[in-house]
Amino acid sequence: MWKGYLLPATEIESAMNMQEPMFPLLRIARHRLGIDGQGVTTLVAGASCPLRCKWCINQDILKRNAAEMISAQELYERVRGDDLYFRATGGGITFGGGESLLQAAFFASFREICSDAWRLCAETSLAVPQSLVELAEQTIDEFIVDCKDMDPDIYHAYTGGDPSIMEANLRFLIEKAGPERVVVRVPLIPDFNTKEAQQNSIKHLKELGVTRLDVFNYVRRTASEK
Ligand code: SF4
Repeated sequence: MWKGYLLPATEIESAMNMQEPMFPLLRIARHRLGIDGQGVTTLVAGASCPLRCKWCINQDILKRNAAEMISAQELYERVRGDDLYFRATGGGITFGGGESLLQAAFFASFREICSDAWRLCAETSLAVPQSLVELAEQTIDEFIVDCKDMDPDIYHAYTGGDPSIMEANLRFLIEKAGPERVVVRVPLIPDFNTKEAQQNSIKHLKELGVTRLDVFNYVRRTASEK
């Protein structure tokens, strides 16, 4: 059933469990401005990811058992101190990782607790079952998608994953959420793609209806530089 995903089926099924969803917390980073969403944001990074990108800077991201499991209420208590910043700037919480959409069931629980004034963003590779994207779409205000590269061979060489999953989910999001709620990051990846491939990805994304693009260069860093 889960052919094409680089995670155990049990992990994907547990991500879909709506009963008391828990967040595998790796770290919280406060007072971010203009990095991952509008206004002042707090990044909440979770463990686990279906991909195996060659320049992934923190291998702990890939291990769910490296994380502290917390409830929506516990997370709220830890981030609520910045409520005034969020309200004053139109900011809020950005869920990252790892693959944040593995926590789509958690997002719904968190949304019930936090203020409607908080903007919720999710950084994602979209390398997840569409049911998780559908679930997240009901809660998340803005999706920040790292597409890696739209060329199937480059994508697979860099991530080990199946690019058709990402593209199908992106088509769904553009259709369902609308292009204004989706930013797609298009990186130049050392040793894996070229400026020409990057331009081809941009062209392909525009044809899919993407209107908000963030074109940038990956910088190779070690975990200690993060
Ligand atoms: S999508 Fe991100 S977290 Fe997952 S393997 Fe790639 S770089 Fe690492």
